[in-house]
Amino acid sequence: MIDGFGRIIEYLRVSVTDKCNLRCRYCMPPEGVSKLSHSDILTIEEITRICALLCEMGVRRVRFTGGEPLIRKGITDLIHNLSSLDNAPEILMTTNGVLLAKSIEALYEAGLAGVNISLDTTDRNEFLRMTGSDLLSDVINSINAAYETGIRIKINCVPITGINDKEIPKIAEFARNRMIDVRFIELMPIGCAAGYDRVTGEGVLHKIIHSFGLSEGDLHPDYGEDSQNGIPKGPALYYRIKGFAGRIGLIDPISDSFCDKCNRIRLTSTGQIKPCLYFSDSIDLRKLIRDGCTDEDIKEAVMRAIAAKPREHRFGILDGNGDSRKMYQIGG
Ligand code: SAM
Ligand code: SF4
Repeated sequence: MIDGFGRIIEYLRVSVTDKCNLRCRYCMPPEGVSKLSHSDILTIEEITRICALLCEMGVRRVRFTGGEPLIRKGITDLIHNLSSLDNAPEILMTTNGVLLAKSIEALYEAGLAGVNISLDTTDRNEFLRMTGSDLLSDVINSINAAYETGIRIKINCVPITGINDKEIPKIAEFARNRMIDVRFIELMPIGCAAGYDRVTGEGVLHKIIHSFGLSEGDLHPDYGEDSQNGIPKGPALYYRIKGFAGRIGLIDPISDSFCDKCNRIRLTSTGQIKPCLYFSDSIDLRKLIRDGCTDEDIKEAVMRAIAAKPREHRFGILDGNGDSRKMYQIGG
């Protein structure tokens, strides 16, 4: 699948629920959110059907996210369904980690190839303030349990000025002794995040260099498996640091937009295909499916979504055409 700007689309992000067991202050309001009824959300069979068709069309990588994907019933079956396809994609997940320790073995056996665990602070009180729950130890246990299985692990942190930016070095420490990549993601002004101040990748590097007593020469760009001919495949710019087993990655969707190499589309939990995170445009696959469409109808609708994929987002200028849906609804 190639979009109107020559970009090959091979990565699908699927939000399997918009519900969550945490309330990260930049993502979800404290009172929670979901007014969706069970029937609003795609079934596991519907998600499987859409993913299988997209894999026939060229998708090579599927990431399950949310809301919190591990609170979705049937998530292990869903992973198993996709890993059993003839043209099975690489299957990944982004999770807050709270429930991961108890399910990691089953997920790994079902075919999960990698897990990104979100962690914004290592301080118990700050975790409680940031997420509304005293569950930091569960997340840490999950990181350890996942590491034991041998599954590929990345840690994602969204640093916010005056909230958790002082934690940057402590989060980076996860990459020191283990082969864990730690990525710092620039906050995007979506929903509850609008009032907060993002930290750019440059700011993150500055803090790391300063805290670990490094000089700029101690950081070496390294794209590893995420590169093709020396060009990064994904949005992260990775660095190796002397003495660290894992890498430090920077993802700067606003200050260093990577739209020119965007290879992704999104499927929301309600069955909307979204060509771009920013814009509100989407195509309703749920209605098509529930009206009894053929596989060809679904493929044709997906091609329309890809043809409509815009050149770039407008998070930097917020042009008024942005999606009013929140990150937990779209699937971050
Ligand atoms: N609940 C899972 C989790 O937290 O990993 C998956 C969904 S969550 C929306 C996915 C990722 O999006 C998390 O790493 C979260 O920190 C990030 N995120 C949420 N809101 C964001 C925003 N406004 N800008 C950048 N990242 C955001
Ligand atoms: Fe839940 Fe993830 Fe949003 Fe936090 S970032 S509230 S864990 S969906």
